[in-house]
Formats: sequence, structure tokens, C-alpha cells
Amino acid sequence: MTGLILGIESTAHTLSFGSVDTNGSLFPSNSSLFRPDEGGIHPREAADHHVDSASSLLDSMVSSEDFSWDSVVAIAFSQGPGLGPCLRIGASIARSLSNSLGVPLIGVNHCVAHIEIGRNQTGCSNPVFLYVSGGNTQVISLSDGRYRVLGETLDIGIGNMLDKFARIHGISFPGGPEIERLASMYLLNGEPDIKSVMLPYGVHGMDIAFSGMLTSAIQKVSDGIPLGHVCWSLQEHSFATCIEVAERALAHTGKDELLLGGGVACNTRLREMSSIMTNERGAKSYWPEKQYCIDNGTMIAELGRRMLECGINTTMPNSAINPVLRTDNTDVLWA
Ligand code: AMP
Ligand code: MG
Repeated sequence: MTGLILGIESTAHTLSFGSVDTNGSLFPSNSSLFRPDEGGIHPREAADHHVDSASSLLDSMVSSEDFSWDSVVAIAFSQGPGLGPCLRIGASIARSLSNSLGVPLIGVNHCVAHIEIGRNQTGCSNPVFLYVSGGNTQVISLSDGRYRVLGETLDIGIGNMLDKFARIHGISFPGGPEIERLASMYLLNGEPDIKSVMLPYGVHGMDIAFSGMLTSAIQKVSDGIPLGHVCWSLQEHSFATCIEVAERALAHTGKDELLLGGGVACNTRLREMSSIMTNERGAKSYWPEKQYCIDNGTMIAELGRRMLECGINTTMPNSAINPVLRTDNTDVLWA
């Protein structure tokens, strides 16, 4: 008999409910994204948004054809990493659903969930994972039973960097898609010019820094360079740093699959750069559908399914959130 694992995502700006059946078929999530009127994301305001939107999102999920409460066999939730007030809302909903349905509770690592939904969707088996989201930028590879972080941002996540650049120029959250649009409009002007928009390139061994690049990009706009031109350059520089580190990770590990994930992996230019690099070295690039790149409840359900198959669940006393959970804190018994 097939059952459903329900997944709850609430680490930051997005509250999302999704599900997967016990055979691994995915069902799209019902999600709501918190968009601040001005400024960045305040954790308390995002948590209030999650509280306000929870019941209507659950209602829409329940009313879908594929869903019935009777078939739910486990509740998975993001236990960390993320913003404390936001994580607490998802965890509370998960505990009460698990209690009232009498099914296991499974606290999952959000970063690992991005990897597992990518493996589910693309069929790649043992990839290097380029994790590019709002708050996280990491290059990851499975070794000795854990997803090891081979390189990562030394300051801010690439998505936060793009969002901040966008916000300063009057573009609302999330800024990444609009930066992509402006960059592609700039390319319609003809041959792109890189010389007047060179930015500091922050690769340090296997790690990356984005804040110098951000400051310099803001300065270029104040100096009078058109916004679209700088958007294009910011994409070229920031994506190149990630692809360079990912290529070195492929070389070091000897792997031949590169999986992209996280919201910035929606970007067509990043996907193109990834394909060019992997083709040149006889490797292959993979990415999930856009709805599964951004934060979503379905990926939490999918990791919950894999953990459940290994007999892992979370007791109530162990269900506290962990805002600073790291990718490599979680034992990977299923891969
Ligand atoms: P996540 O934190 O994984 O939900 O991803 C959200 C981040 O992805 C935000 O910082 C967005 O600006 C970014 N993002 C979404 N779509 C795109 C895109 N097409 N290009 C670049 N960044 C994007
Ligand atoms: Mg994420």
C-alpha cells in the first residue's frame, strides 16, 4: 500500500506544504512567499506571515485530488538551518499534526533536502552538489556517510547578495529573477562589454566571498553605468566563482555529475555555464524543475521518505529546531 509523507518547509521567507508518496512520486507544493514591503527579511515578520498563511495553505493541499489525511504515514519538517522564529512555526505545526494523526515525526536537514529532491528528479546518483540559494552557497560531495562541504561562501549567500543589489536599486524581493531579466535585456544591445564593469572576483581556494563584488557593483551603478549592464556583469562574475569551485570539486573527487539546487539554480545563465564546464570535462549537469529549486515542502517530504525507509524518526524531546544545523551534521544512511 502506498502512503504519503507530508513535508513542511519554513526555514526563511517561504512557508510550504508538499508531499511525496512512499514510492517517491512527488506532488507539487502549496507555498506562500513572504515579501517585505521594504528592507530585508525580518525573522519575526516572516514568522508572522507563516502563522497567517498556514491554514489556507493546508486547506489548498487537503482539497487536492492526490491528498487524503488517511494516507499520511509521516510528517517531515525542516529542523534547520534557518531563522529561529520561522523554524519554530513549521516545527509546531509538524508536532501537532504528528500527534493528532498518530504518525511518526521526522526532523530533516533543509540543505540535505535540496540534494535529495535533485537526485529524485534527475536520476543522478553521486553528484557534486552546487547549492546556491538565498542564505546558502556551498559545494558539497558525499563522502564517508555525510554530505561534506568542500567549499562555501565566506560571507553572504549568493541569493542574498543578488537580492540586496536589487533592493538598493528599487527592485523588490526576490531580486534574482529581475536581475536575470535585466541582464538578458542588456545582451540584446549587441556584443557585451566587460572592461567597464570588472568586479572583484572573490575565489579563495575552495571558498567564495561575495561582499566585495556587491559593493563594487553598487559603485558601478552610482558611477553611471546602466543597471542592466551591471546586472549582467554581476551574474557573470558571481556565477563564474561558483562554477570554478564546482569544477575544482569535480576534479578533486573524480566525480562526473554536477547537480544544481537552491533558488539561484533557476537561473538560465548559471545552468548554461554549468553545462559548458561539465561538457568540457566529459561530465554532466543536472538540475530539478524550478518549483523544486526554490524552497518547497515537497523536498522536505522526499528527504523524510528516505529517512523513514531507514527507520529514522524524531521523538518529541528531540524535535527542537536547530538554526545552525550544517549540511555535514546529518548521517546519510540512504544514499
Ligand atoms: P531559496 O532560498 O532556495 O528559496 O531561493 C531564493 C533565492 O533564489 C532568492 O535569493 C532569489 O533571488 C533567488 N532566485 C530565484 N530565481 C532566480 C533567478 N532566476 N536567478 C537568480 N536568482 C534567483
Ligand atoms: Mg533553501
